[in-house]
Amino acid sequence: MITPDCDKILQKIKEKISEHGFWSHITVAETQVTSLKSSPEKIRGNKSRAIYPQLTNPIEPPICELCQVRKAEKVWVDEESGIKEDICEKCWNIRKMGGLLPRLVEWENSEQKINVCWIKIWLDYEKLLFNLEKLYKGYLENSGLKLPKEIDIRFTTVSEFQWDYNEFLSDLRNEFITTLGNENTQEILSDFVAIRITSLNQIKPILFTYNNTFNKYFPKFGEVTSPLQVAIVASSIKFPFSEIWRLLQDINNEVNVHLLNKGAIYLKVQDISDFLGISLPPRTFLHKIGGIDEISPKLSKIALYDRMDRDSWRYKGIREAIDRYGYQNVLTYTKMMSD
Ligand SMILES: [Zn+2]
Repeated sequence: MITPDCDKILQKIKEKISEHGFWSHITVAETQVTSLKSSPEKIRGNKSRAIYPQLTNPIEPPICELCQVRKAEKVWVDEESGIKEDICEKCWNIRKMGGLLPRLVEWENSEQKINVCWIKIWLDYEKLLFNLEKLYKGYLENSGLKLPKEIDIRFTTVSEFQWDYNEFLSDLRNEFITTLGNENTQEILSDFVAIRITSLNQIKPILFTYNNTFNKYFPKFGEVTSPLQVAIVASSIKFPFSEIWRLLQDINNEVNVHLLNKGAIYLKVQDISDFLGISLPPRTFLHKIGGIDEISPKLSKIALYDRMDRDSWRYKGIREAIDRYGYQNVLTYTKMMSD
């Protein structure tokens, strides 16, 4: 955020924080417009600090069971289990906001066994600046222009990217709705979506959709290490969210797919299309190899490479893919597609 009146904005942030009970970490730097940098940390004399809401001292019991920093004035009763929780007014208001995610609530309360794909997009800001600089340098070189001594990505460039990024996120969500149905899609945040799936092989169209939308907006990021990363976790809707959130943050590559108890897939975004084109044997054979792998990965490797096995030729596509993408990626994909 850039503002000519810092104190006024800070005051607003403080008011919002005390209204909702959150805390926030901010970095403030003052400079002239001509010396603006891409991030406040790069401006000399910047100051970082945390803003907390005002707390009463001491807090009278009962203490809120959720945030534990305010007096519990309300009792939240879970309709299904009847479990009661003493919580404060701020946490009560946040809980009630859950009603803004109607499909998630509906799936959670359903008698049926419902599986969900959690999709989170992460943006690495440092990587973004690094790559914008790299791409700009490449552009200057290709145009035969002289390279300046120091390339500094201007704030306007970052701001332009931000516009594209927001448009990308909203387009991506719309594409998910078109591909998998509005009734199966729940937007949680602009970069966080839950999709109801009936089978793990529906992750394939999800990955295709991500890939196509990504290439439409950021074709140049395929040439560098993308600052955008996507994490996908497939789980039952009843699975503890704290664990899902932990997996969503487990980022090893540009594309990260976690299938609970089945393994993970880590890919570069430009490999998605080729990877999803792996020539797989019929489903029964996928089942067989996936089943063996769940008992023993060593044994499944032997089965895949056993030339004496009369089905050996059927696994040719898998073996070739393993050479390119590694054993874990391909086997997890095998399990995903046999579901
Ligand atoms: Zn609370």
